[in-house]
Amino acid sequence: MLTRTGIAVSPGVAISPAMLFGSQGFRIPQRFVSVDAVDSEVSRFRASVETVCIALDENERVAREQLGEQYAAIFSAHRMMLRDTKLNGEIETLIRTKCFSPEFASSRVLRNYAKVLQNLGNTYLAERAADVFDLEKRLLKALLGEQRPELSHLTEPVVVLAHNLTPGETANLNRQFVKGFATEAGGRTSHTAILAGALEIPAVVGIGKFLADVSPGDVVIIDGNRGEVIIDPDEPTIARYRDSARLQESEAERLAAFNSIEARTRDGVRIQVLGNIEFPHEVQHCVTRGADGVGLYRTEFLYLGSDHEPTEEEHYDAYCRVVREMGNHPVVIRTLDLGADKIPGDFEEFRTKADNPALGLRSIRLSLRHLGQFKTQLRAILRAAVHGDVRIMFPLVTTLLELRKARMILADVVEDLEEEGLEFKKEIPVGMMVEVPAAALLAHHFSREVDFFSIGTNDLIQYALAVDRAEPSVASLYRAGDPSILRLIQMVIEAGQSAGIPVTVCGQMSSDPKFVPLLLGLGIRSVSVTPISLPEVKDVIRNISIEDADRLASHSLSLDIARDVENFLRTELNRLCPSRLSDMPLTQ
Ligand code: PEP
Ligand code: MG
Repeated sequence: MLTRTGIAVSPGVAISPAMLFGSQGFRIPQRFVSVDAVDSEVSRFRASVETVCIALDENERVAREQLGEQYAAIFSAHRMMLRDTKLNGEIETLIRTKCFSPEFASSRVLRNYAKVLQNLGNTYLAERAADVFDLEKRLLKALLGEQRPELSHLTEPVVVLAHNLTPGETANLNRQFVKGFATEAGGRTSHTAILAGALEIPAVVGIGKFLADVSPGDVVIIDGNRGEVIIDPDEPTIARYRDSARLQESEAERLAAFNSIEARTRDGVRIQVLGNIEFPHEVQHCVTRGADGVGLYRTEFLYLGSDHEPTEEEHYDAYCRVVREMGNHPVVIRTLDLGADKIPGDFEEFRTKADNPALGLRSIRLSLRHLGQFKTQLRAILRAAVHGDVRIMFPLVTTLLELRKARMILADVVEDLEEEGLEFKKEIPVGMMVEVPAAALLAHHFSREVDFFSIGTNDLIQYALAVDRAEPSVASLYRAGDPSILRLIQMVIEAGQSAGIPVTVCGQMSSDPKFVPLLLGLGIRSVSVTPISLPEVKDVIRNISIEDADRLASHSLSLDIARDVENFLRTELNRLCPSRLSDMPLTQ
């Protein structure tokens, strides 16, 4: 049994066999074959060994010609390893006696060899494990052909383990069978993490290297509450986690009582609690949990899984679905926030070669360069707006000029629609995300030119603290409780209050229960959270008074270290909301 720790990004516990989704993207489609098929499967295995050996011969020849004998020797060593009678015997025995598929048997045996080499305590031999993994990949490739793994075509429950999953791969996970996922890469507010929340499956990211320790089919526990991944757990551990999963379920049942209750503080102040969505179907999660509306619709996810640029009608249909299902409640549609880690793979024109894409051509900057695409989206939003209470929001606004340009394009679109005589809503509120420190510093100026602010703490923290939100090696430096972040939020709220415009917080910070009292104390009266967090956030709000919140905020502002702020808020949350399920470690 081996426990690895990463960043918990989507709550819940999953216990299932592992499906490895490596950087080469091979998955083992089936673990068992029928008894009748054993002979033909052994032949298939032998043929694949031959295929790999032929490729290795070719690699050896090219290496000898171009690089010299010592490089060619690498490939002849690989070939010898693959022809080793003991190794082949072990694999064939598993196929014959256990009816393992050749893919599963090969992966099992080769990974066991690799593990032994890694654990011999000799650096040279440990490095040879990489050769064994290389052979595994070659053999799987020969067995599986060039097939790309189809994460959406699973037939049995698994937990997916990967070096990284792109937002597109995450979006395509089949929720019926993928019970959870864990990745070596990724940070707390990476878009893959946000999508895990949207899919409502337990997930842990940023674990660092661990895939070599797992074989396909090993039982793995993913604890998305504590950020732990337990490989090959023993029975007592499985039992503890099953108990924990049951506790979580009863906590979810307790919280379900808040679905139909509005968020009001103990002293009667009504707080607007909205939902963040990425896909139209999530609007149902918001409705079921009694959200006051959609505070952030991340429309860029329309591109995921699509092989073409969405048409105006596709934008329109998606928005209409959300707006209609939300009834009279507000729906804030954010214009495309493409770029950084949200570049759709198939859309070459949006792919930038920048070394630092988070600071590059992304989001509103990209929309202002691709006016056709921007206008298409704005037309669809204005047309969908006739069906409900729609508001437009621009992401990543950094300068006033940028905001003014975006508003000018919007005015052009209004004119076009008027000329065309199409049905649309002319006057709709226009707001902006405050997620760049420059915009927070100039919030007073911006507040005169927009109808609302929404603070995007995910990016605000990344840019203010110079910490990549998706980079696990600096995850411990990514702190919402940093005093500088508190001050930036305070500035935006003050600017909003003096201009008389609403200010919402829609970054992940507002889905974290410990920060909710702080945000209320800073003056926030509207939050937009991951749908799964709606009941929990309402529960916290109903347990505190504005007086408590003010006291917490002013004490937090007197502290000068993020860790102290967060510890203080955690302690206060447990004191004010004693009925919440606390997060106790489960491994021993
Ligand atoms: C944010 O940056 O806080 C935000 C809500 O936007 P996104 O996570 O989509 O960048
Ligand atoms: Mg953002």
